[in-house]
Amino acid sequence: MIYVRPKKSLGQHFLTDTNIARDIVEAANITGDDAVVEIGPGNGILTRLLAERAKKVIAIEIDERLADGLKNDLAGFKNIELLHADALQFPFEKIEGRFKVAANLPYYITTPIIFHLLESRDKIVSMTLMMQKEVAERIAAKPGGKDYGVLSIAVQFYTEPLINFIVPSSAFYPKPKVESAVVSFSILKKRRVDVLDEGFFFKVVRAAFSQRRKTLRNALKAANLPKTTDDALDSAFTKTGIDPKRRGETLSIAEFAKLADQLATGSGLSG
Ligand code: SAM
Repeated sequence: MIYVRPKKSLGQHFLTDTNIARDIVEAANITGDDAVVEIGPGNGILTRLLAERAKKVIAIEIDERLADGLKNDLAGFKNIELLHADALQFPFEKIEGRFKVAANLPYYITTPIIFHLLESRDKIVSMTLMMQKEVAERIAAKPGGKDYGVLSIAVQFYTEPLINFIVPSSAFYPKPKVESAVVSFSILKKRRVDVLDEGFFFKVVRAAFSQRRKTLRNALKAANLPKTTDDALDSAFTKTGIDPKRRGETLSIAEFAKLADQLATGSGLSG
């Protein structure tokens, strides 16, 4: 066991309940053929359990005190590669072969690390990540509620997220202010919906949610995107059959795709 003074700035809330660590490894569905990447091994509570099951564990820790301590502590495990590095900068695409990801994430990097990992999604079989419950709910949200937004769509565009279980703050030292949730993400073989221009699709999605209380049409108009003249918008709503008075939070990903594709292709001037 490594004893260090926890650094708040690095999101250090160490899991103290081994049963929960076991439940995370269980949810990650690790077999003897798997390579597993762990973000932020901390004092190694998950790392040990992962190494007992996996073929190989690559653990990436930014805090030198912990990385050094772990190198000693885990020296007995020949299948652990311990790296002292910033996971946000780590070139995951360079890891040989496909891998699973398992982690109790530092809260401050939850969203950026998920997007960074998703850039290498071709290499990733699945991800099992503990995060703030509130972020987990936004990630897994379906259309129609206040949790559904850009984050839900961006993650569900590439993955199928599932909230496995909730973890009380009493399971950590020091105790965080909020509850946590363990989310598993299976990576979709291809994007959830086909879109003509992914960049433009996300611009439309962001615009629709940038002013949540506005109707879809007014929100898109206010965002001043390319290809959104009055004529283009009218035509796109007519052709897709999407009511312009709806709010962005009611649209499914497929409906956003239809609308974005229609705006991207139609000048809106032709019938
Ligand atoms: N896995 C341990 C556990 O479950 O108790 C520690 C989890 S703690 C919530 C997050 C860990 O991530 C800490 O050890 C912290 O030092 C590390 N960390 C924070 N930022 C990081 C980054 N950018 N890259 C890699 N590790 C990071």
